[in-house]
Amino acid sequence: MLHSKALIKLLGELKKLPGVGEKTAIRLAFHLLKSPANVSALADSLLEVSAKVRFCSICFGITEDDPCPVCSGDRDESLICVVEEPQDMLAIERSHAFQGRYHVLQGALSPLNGVTPAQLKIAELIGRLKQGEVKEVVLATNFSVEGEATTLYLTRLLKPLGIKVTRLAHGIPTGHDIEYVDVTTMQRAMEGRSEL
Ligand code: ZN
Repeated sequence: MLHSKALIKLLGELKKLPGVGEKTAIRLAFHLLKSPANVSALADSLLEVSAKVRFCSICFGITEDDPCPVCSGDRDESLICVVEEPQDMLAIERSHAFQGRYHVLQGALSPLNGVTPAQLKIAELIGRLKQGEVKEVVLATNFSVEGEATTLYLTRLLKPLGIKVTRLAHGIPTGHDIEYVDVTTMQRAMEGRSEL
């Protein structure tokens, strides 16, 4: 039905995005076709982000400068909060409930989907902990099957190192992603964190 190879290609690219199926891809593509000025701004913005934004070499959060402002700033070095994705770090920063540093695993353990410890930034976390500054690790993985499996794995790994391991309080509903937790709930979950 489509007589444009370029349009078919665009639909193919859009469908690679999370949550975008055939219908949404078509709606987005036709919306873009109607506003060439927006297309140009969007294309510029995508290229700029891809050129400037990278992962911090210490915490693996997203940043334009390496190390990121959190890692290079005046934060409590004795506390590290472990999260799954960079957007989780942003959600916790928004709550202003945490004054320490972060470590982004870039995923969660999921044997069914082939995600093993080696694919996460766990060795890098251990490397940071072995420097000896860290006294407490706050596990802020999602309250999902994968997030809980990751917490269990990390607890077993970290406790023998003599480091206090805590978990965010269960004010956060099971199955909810850290990314979408509101500021007040996040503040309570951080304050009420308990030792594992
Ligand atoms: Zn960083």
